[in-house]
Amino acid sequence: MRKWNFCAGPAIISEAVLEEVKSELLEFKQVGASIMEISHRSKTFMEVAEQAKNDLIDILKIPKNYDVLFLQGGATHQFSMVPYNFGHNNGQADYILSGTWSKKAIAEASKITKVNTIASSEAKNFSYAPDPKDWRVNQNSAYVHYCPNETIQGVAIHEPPDINKPIISDASSVILSEPLEVNKFSLIYAGAQKNIGPAGLTIVIIDRDFMELGNQQIPNILKYSEHSRSNSMLNTPPTFAWYMAGKVFKWIKQCGGLEYFREQNHLKASKLYEFVDKSSFYLNNIDIKNRSIMNVTFFLKNDELDSAFLQEAEQNGFLNLKGHRSVGGMRASIYNALPLEGVEELIKFMTYFESNNG
Ligand SMILES: *Cc1c(COP(=O)(O)O)cnc(C)c1O
Repeated sequence: MRKWNFCAGPAIISEAVLEEVKSELLEFKQVGASIMEISHRSKTFMEVAEQAKNDLIDILKIPKNYDVLFLQGGATHQFSMVPYNFGHNNGQADYILSGTWSKKAIAEASKITKVNTIASSEAKNFSYAPDPKDWRVNQNSAYVHYCPNETIQGVAIHEPPDINKPIISDASSVILSEPLEVNKFSLIYAGAQKNIGPAGLTIVIIDRDFMELGNQQIPNILKYSEHSRSNSMLNTPPTFAWYMAGKVFKWIKQCGGLEYFREQNHLKASKLYEFVDKSSFYLNNIDIKNRSIMNVTFFLKNDELDSAFLQEAEQNGFLNLKGHRSVGGMRASIYNALPLEGVEELIKFMTYFESNNG
């Protein structure tokens, strides 16, 4: 039986999507084989691939001067691909340090280019995110990189920064949760396994003019421009993950698009935060203006009850609430496919657990 799944990633996928995939798993359309057993260059797959791309362009209202790439290697691969392509321009780049993932991005980029960490919330244990108004951008940096939603801490920068520099965003855990002003960014990347589909696929949305500034001396597999020229088929792409992402995009459209999910996600998050804030048993220590709408972290004031909480939660049908090992406590990832009912049921369980243990 399927349960309420709060996993941070690979994360919950809509049951409607899984049912549809199941129904065409053995034979896709009338081609005599499954979608994962045919050539990525076949007409059948090319149509699936193009449809998925067009639906994503539709959902995010991606302007014509951007390309959308379907790559591999996860967001982690982007940590080095970005500086390999653009770090040579002026030989330095600005980074914002707001949590575990941006820290990893900085560590990788530092091997490839000169990194200026121009704002950091590390001294306060990432309990807030540096306000873009306080970022001291270097005139000579090639780009500014930040992570709008730190999945592990549950810390978000909700508004895209207004900066006169190419902005690069690791949107892995927040993409498709609400409408996005794509034109504020030069490059947006996201691993698929949070809000898009199964692991193995990475989406890159890139300004074509910016892309052409990329270093031409690096291997093709690292070059955005080369992936773009070959329609993300420089080599065999992750066809099954691409196909499934396409199903998710269709499902998002059928639900009412990103306006619908913005409303639902804000409702889910605010209900959960409100409950935690009112309680004397649970707590969240992230600055209110930086609270994530996708990854809600919370603690039990008495952490000796953590393992009992997790065990009882699982017995009652709530999976993967354990916080990241580096942070401790709990984390409820409430991506698009987790309905409001799941959050309401979680709050009921948390109320019940408090009344038994408070
Ligand atoms: C999950 C995640 C990553 C890492 O993604 P991989 O696909 O495992 O490389 C990077 N950044 C953010 C914000 C994430 O949520």
